[in-house]
Amino acid sequence: MTKKIKGIIFDLDDTLFDCMGQLTQPARRRAARILASARPGLSVETACRQQELLAQTHESSEAIRVLGVQRDIPPHIVKRALDAYNSLKVEAIAPFPDVPDILATLTQRDYELALVTAGYPDRQREKVHLLGLGDYFSETDNTLILCDTRKTDKGPCLVQAAKVLALPHAQILCVGDKLTDEIAAANTLGMTTVRMRHGRQKHRVPQTPTEQPDCEIDRIAQVLSLLP
Ligand SMILES: [Mg+2]
Repeated sequence: MTKKIKGIIFDLDDTLFDCMGQLTQPARRRAARILASARPGLSVETACRQQELLAQTHESSEAIRVLGVQRDIPPHIVKRALDAYNSLKVEAIAPFPDVPDILATLTQRDYELALVTAGYPDRQREKVHLLGLGDYFSETDNTLILCDTRKTDKGPCLVQAAKVLALPHAQILCVGDKLTDEIAAANTLGMTTVRMRHGRQKHRVPQTPTEQPDCEIDRIAQVLSLLP
C-alpha cells in the first residue's frame, strides 16, 4: 500500500513533539488557576479535569468558555484565563527523540517532506523554530504551511502542500494525531493516512469512514517501517 508513496506531510503538535505533555497540560493549568481563583468551590485540579473532558468535543478555547458558563464565572475572568491559555510564549519544547534521525533518513531515501500545522501562525512558527525543525520545513520554500484555524480547516492547506511537493494525492502519506482533522481531511483527498496515537484524541474511536486511518502507530519512528 505504501510502495507508491513519494512524499510525506507531517502534522506538528502531538505528531513530531509531545504537545500534550509539554504545552497543553501546563496551559490548562494556567487557565485553571485563574478560573479557580474566581470560584472558591472550584479546585485547580477540577478545572483542569473539566477542560480535559470538554476538549474531547470542543476546541481548547471553547472548552474554557463553556466551563466559564457552566461555573458562572465572570466574563473578564474567563478572558484572563483564555489569555493565559493562549499565551504566545512557547516554553522549552523538544521534538520526540527519534525525529531528527527520521527526517534525515527520509530525506536520504528521497522522500519529499512538508509540514502542515494548524493554530495561531505566530505561535506555530515559534514552535518550529524552538524544535529545531527549520532545516527541513520552511516558509521560504513552502514546505512549512501555517494553517490559520481562525480562517480555514486543514483540507485546503493539505492541497497546497501536495502542490508544493508536486505529487498526486495518491503518492502522499499524511501523518497526524487527529482523526477529526488531518486524518479525515487527507482521507477525503485520497491520500494515505497514518494516525499517531498521541494527544487529546489518543483514545478516540473513528466515528465515520473518513476518520478511519490506513495505519496506526504509537511512536513516530514506526513511519520508517511502513515505507520501503
Ligand atoms: Mg496534532
